[in-house]
Amino acid sequence: MKIDFPEYASDYSKRLASVSKAFAKQVYDPKGFSSNNQDESEEYGIDPFGELTHASKCFGLKQRFKDRVLIMTSDKCFMNCRHCTRRGLLGKAQVVRTDDELNACVNYVKARPQVRDVLLSGGDILTLSDKDVMRFVDAFAALSQVDIVRVCTRALCTNPGRITDKLAKALARSGKVWVNTQFNCADEVTAEARLAASRLINRGIPVSCQSVLLKGVNDSAPKMIKLLKALSAARIRPYYVFMCDPVAGIERFRVPIEKAREIERRCAESLGGLSMPRFVADIPGAKRKTPI
Ligand code: SF4
Repeated sequence: MKIDFPEYASDYSKRLASVSKAFAKQVYDPKGFSSNNQDESEEYGIDPFGELTHASKCFGLKQRFKDRVLIMTSDKCFMNCRHCTRRGLLGKAQVVRTDDELNACVNYVKARPQVRDVLLSGGDILTLSDKDVMRFVDAFAALSQVDIVRVCTRALCTNPGRITDKLAKALARSGKVWVNTQFNCADEVTAEARLAASRLINRGIPVSCQSVLLKGVNDSAPKMIKLLKALSAARIRPYYVFMCDPVAGIERFRVPIEKAREIERRCAESLGGLSMPRFVADIPGAKRKTPI
């Protein structure tokens, strides 16, 4: 299995990588990336959740669970995370760009009243202009059946200056937006990241974090506890720690399940409930995120 997923990082991410080894591991391949040095894997594929096949319900819309859908709003990010689940999909993804494509997604949701949660993902939706971000947010927030519009972005730690007060104000308008982000080590919770989070939170937008358990980044109880404390101090709610997904090309990041359970136990013994996320695995075909 060959995957072409070049190294790419915003200037902010490069600066952070220059002072944080744990962050740099998420930015750079160990031997350096070139088109002749693609990731290879025999064991896993690029699309374990069927996003190119059965989960793809209309152009740019994925549905794996009854009450929620995911919209592909962009195929770009502020950084190509080396552990990304969609690392083999982003170049092939159907991305919603035209009004007709967006209307088709809205109509799909309207026809299924059980859908109450819409994930605006990609890629990173905040690589779009404010106007285009709000085109997506407003289209789904206007539906009375939709309670939650999730803006899924790693901008808080890969390009925090993108979270301006103007953007936060616009996102807060509907009262339905939640921001979901991903921090994987305490080094990522910089002053800039805290400021970005506070811009959202001070406008009443909940900010939640789903981290990924990554070998060499956060695979010890002290490192994980430090991350969870830093998130709580920034008022970012840690709610999931994911095992690496079963995708090709991220073997070097996988943490054995026994070690993951030990880290979870020690975190739970050290932290109160507001700082303690659920440790889960996303298993293809499962009806829920599976506790480890
Ligand atoms: S920001 Fe998210 S979608 Fe983009 S490369 Fe990183 S993990 Fe993947």
